[in-house]
Amino acid sequence: MSDKPVKFIDENGLRLDGRRVDEIRPMTVEMGVLSRADGSCYLEWGNNKVLAAVYGPRELHPRRLQRPSEALVRYRYNMAAFSVEDRIRPGPSRRSTEISKVSGEAFETVVMKQFYPGAVIDVFAEVLQADAGTRTAAINAATLALVDAGIPMKGLVAACAVGKVDGQLVIDLNKPEDNYGDADLPIAMTEDGEITLLQMDGNLTADEIAKGVEMVRKGCEQIFAIQKEALLSKFGTTDEMEILEE
Ligand code: UDP
Repeated sequence: MSDKPVKFIDENGLRLDGRRVDEIRPMTVEMGVLSRADGSCYLEWGNNKVLAAVYGPRELHPRRLQRPSEALVRYRYNMAAFSVEDRIRPGPSRRSTEISKVSGEAFETVVMKQFYPGAVIDVFAEVLQADAGTRTAAINAATLALVDAGIPMKGLVAACAVGKVDGQLVIDLNKPEDNYGDADLPIAMTEDGEITLLQMDGNLTADEIAKGVEMVRKGCEQIFAIQKEALLSKFGTTDEMEILEE
């Protein structure tokens, strides 16, 4: 028997976890949690738990992979074997390879790679506990780990999904909404509002996508505020230049 809920949104407009359609799950972040990494961040978002670690910039080996005029940014998304109910087989999968690729690209226009020719910046995102939205959670953590590592960036990146349940658009899907909903559209964007990741699973009309993107923008504004609060409490400023000078 399917455990699909009969209704995802009640008559008061509240979802199964009590949120409104445009509300994100509670998010907490802690920077600098790993002493061996150049930068790190632990993030909890609802029941998701993600650890991001950044190493670099450091010389890239083998040297034939080096880029003469910029750094190479490598992003590895990984789910721990114990992060979901059914054990995840260790090692890369089609899913994790795809998520790693698109998540790395979400930072492409933001990281100022031109400052480090021949170098590599490695971003590791480890999902310790998964509850839908792990790729977006990982991007939110990776942004802060990059700042923590002192990597110059044009701004922050935030990510959040929008989907559709009971015919209504909802942001930051929880597990039942992700499993049984009609669509899942993870999006990442810069502080300037430039979309750097957009994937879609399921069906949405063009109008729904446009409306969904606007809802995600509001969600990302909340995430930027949380990220900036973390920067403020760690560095006493949200100004990237001042942080780099520390
Ligand atoms: N999931 C799982 N096993 C897997 C992959 C995913 O149980 O091998 C769960 C996990 O909770 C994940 C959710 O399904 O967060 C949704 O996965 P999806 O591929 O949509 O990526 P996500 O929403 O986590 O970015």
